[in-house]
Amino acid sequence: MAQECIFCRIIKGEIPCSKVYENNSLLAFLDIAPLSQGHCLLVPKEHVVRPDTCPSHILIALTQQIGPLAKAIITTAKTDSYNVLVNCGRNAGQLVDHLHLHIIPRFTSDNALSHCPPGKYPPGRMEELAHLIGQSL
Ligand code: 5GP
Ligand code: ZN
Repeated sequence: MAQECIFCRIIKGEIPCSKVYENNSLLAFLDIAPLSQGHCLLVPKEHVVRPDTCPSHILIALTQQIGPLAKAIITTAKTDSYNVLVNCGRNAGQLVDHLHLHIIPRFTSDNALSHCPPGKYPPGRMEELAHLIGQSL
C-alpha cells in the first residue's frame, strides 16, 4: 500500500534519507544497509511495485538515469565496477514493494554479492523454454 510504503514516506520527506539526486519523477538516495560504500537506490516517485506491472514511461525515466548515476557513484567511490540490481518478488529478495534499482559500486574481493554456482539444462529444455517465453511475450 502506497500510504504505508517506506519509500513513499522517504519521497514525501516523512522519513529522512541521504539524498543523492532528485528530479520530478525520480529520487536516488544511499541504502541504509549498504552492500558496499556508496550503494544507492534509485526509485520512481510514483508508487509502483516492479517492472512487469510498471508503466513504460517510469521504466524509461529510471533507465535514463542509470548511466549518469552509476558514473557519479563509481567516480566518487574510485572504482570502475558496479552492479545494477532489481529484486522483484519475495523469492528474489524484494523486501520493499516499491520498485527500486540498486546501484552497487564494487571493489576487489569485496564479497558484496555471493555468487551461486551456474546451473545447466537437460537436453532440449533450453530450446523449449526459449520458445515458451517468446510465445508469452
Ligand atoms: P530489496 O531487498 O527490497 O531489493 O531492497 C530494499 C533495500 O532498501 C535494502 O537494501 C534496505 O537496506 C533498504 N532500505 C530499507 N529501508 C530503508 C530506509 O528506511 N532507508 C534507506 N535509505 N534504505 C532502506
Ligand atoms: Zn511506495
